Amino acid sequence: MKSINLGNSGLEASAVALGCMRIAELGTSELAQLIDACLEAGIDFFDHADIYGGGRCEERFGEYLHTHPGVRDRILIQSKCGIRPGFFDFSLPHILHSVDQSLTRLQTDHLDVLLLHRPDTLMEPEEVAEAFTHLHQSGKVRHFGVSNQNPSQMALLQKYVPFKLIADQLQFGPAHTPLVDSGLNVNIKSPLGTMYDGGVLEYCRLNEITIQTWSPFLFGFFEGVFLTSERYTELTRTLGRIGERYRLSPGAAAVAWVARHPAKIQTIIGSTKPQRVRENARGADVELTREEWYEIYRSAGNRLP
Ligand code: NAP
Repeated sequence: MKSINLGNSGLEASAVALGCMRIAELGTSELAQLIDACLEAGIDFFDHADIYGGGRCEERFGEYLHTHPGVRDRILIQSKCGIRPGFFDFSLPHILHSVDQSLTRLQTDHLDVLLLHRPDTLMEPEEVAEAFTHLHQSGKVRHFGVSNQNPSQMALLQKYVPFKLIADQLQFGPAHTPLVDSGLNVNIKSPLGTMYDGGVLEYCRLNEITIQTWSPFLFGFFEGVFLTSERYTELTRTLGRIGERYRLSPGAAAVAWVARHPAKIQTIIGSTKPQRVRENARGADVELTREEWYEIYRSAGNRLP
């Protein structure tokens, strides 16, 4: 599995990571098989959040770590904070409290990366800087990043935070492409030409911030899995046909499509099935041609100008 130097920080992580949002209800041996499949496939990066499963996802992962000594030293753990019931909270007490709770649940003494989950418009960047400094000095968090933020929000935070932000986690996949649509349709009055994110793809590339994509197999805002949706049969057929050339499943071809972008995007997959994880992980090591990348993009219903 090829690796990605996250935010050019020297932190090398697998190009495909496992998102742990859906693991709360897995049986103990099912979860062990899932994590073991990741390790065998070269996946060494695990994405969490304090809110996944109401904390249960981190707790389950921590139980696995407790019963599998030695695994913690071979993997990187990322978690997130900032979403609370009915509001967003980037206050110092909440950030510190949330990290302490995550560390307890995960049964570890540090997070490799902490992300701020969703923008809090009441954020005081100086306060976030103070929280991050405390977490770094106490050894609880090694690196910091954000999620779902636009360039100005990151620049505002970076003005005060004394650590380089290394990641922005955003939704991106063959059936969800605002990250590239507006850049392909500059100055064109059309839905695809509408910029929803302030040019975050180019900002991240310019500032060496790794984009991590969440929900690469979903369309809309958690509307469904495109691979099983009638709305995306042409896309799935194209992924299947192109994937066959490389002995990849349609899902793995979708991972190859994300990985082909020169922005070196890390793909966070959320499958709970060991076989699916093994299959999809292989996609990151296949390099699609330029023609194949654009064909997949067009087969999702996108038109080029
Ligand atoms: P995903 O990998 O796009 O979707 C996973 C879902 O797709 C699972 O239910 C999986 O089912 C299903 N699936 C995958 N391949 C399939 C196929 N060939 N046929 C049918 N179903 C298939 O990602 P996600 O779980 O939505 O998100 C990934 C991670 O991103 C999360 O775990 C979380 O860590 C992160 N995330 C972050 C944010 C944020 O705001 N930062 C938001 C959402 C998620 P099986 O389990 O049966 O394989």
